[in-house]
Amino acid sequence: MNQVVCFRLYRGFLRVFDWIFPPRCPVCDCILDSGELIHEKCRRKLLFVKEPCCARCGRPVDSDGKEYCYDCSKQGLRSFVQGKCMFIYKGVIKETMYRFKYSNKREYGSFFASEAAKNYSEWIEQKEIQAIVPVPMYRKKKRIRGYNQAEVFAKALSAQTGIPVETNIVKRVRDTKPLKLLNPEERKNNLKNAFQGINNIVKCDYILLVDDIYTTGSTAEAVSQELLKMGAKEVYLLCICIGEGT
Ligand SMILES: [Zn+2]
Ligand SMILES: [Zn+2]
Repeated sequence: MNQVVCFRLYRGFLRVFDWIFPPRCPVCDCILDSGELIHEKCRRKLLFVKEPCCARCGRPVDSDGKEYCYDCSKQGLRSFVQGKCMFIYKGVIKETMYRFKYSNKREYGSFFASEAAKNYSEWIEQKEIQAIVPVPMYRKKKRIRGYNQAEVFAKALSAQTGIPVETNIVKRVRDTKPLKLLNPEERKNNLKNAFQGINNIVKCDYILLVDDIYTTGSTAEAVSQELLKMGAKEVYLLCICIGEGT
């Protein structure tokens, strides 16, 4: 079978799939019109991250004079160079993220990726990113859930930017407790040795690490440290949501 026939069959399959399982709006979860990624009225309900933001992690700060957010100034230098986040984890997006994570709403990844490309493709280009790495999920957990939402986002972003996704660089070797149940000290210990490099030498110098929700940054920090240990020169971070912080 030649490539053109394969491509047409694939497109036909997608159309049938969309007809049986039509894509739904990430905010209200109602069926979308063809080609839509979100209802315009629903998009307006989302809280987009706006400047001024922390120069390190991208969390909004309350005044222009503040260079770093409370967490970043308290923890000192992060191992990732800079982070960007798209939405404040507050209001309607909390339910969106819950469905994206636990209810198999992988289609939301296309909306997140399209927003990321719209706002950050120039930044990604400037940083000469060579690979997108999703924060890995523990294997057993992924088997139970069926997918890793950070990987879904990474793949959708790759389709928008043309930058490949690498899932074979670092893995999560320990399951970790939900961060919201732990205090800062317990969080640090919880993540100790949780990630491990798979390949000894990372062939990409500039990596974009992606995740769904950024809270204190300790997960991103742990994965980023592992990537640097394995030979990456610089790690950048892009998260769908960020908590307001302390
Ligand atoms: Zn909607
Ligand atoms: Zn920060």
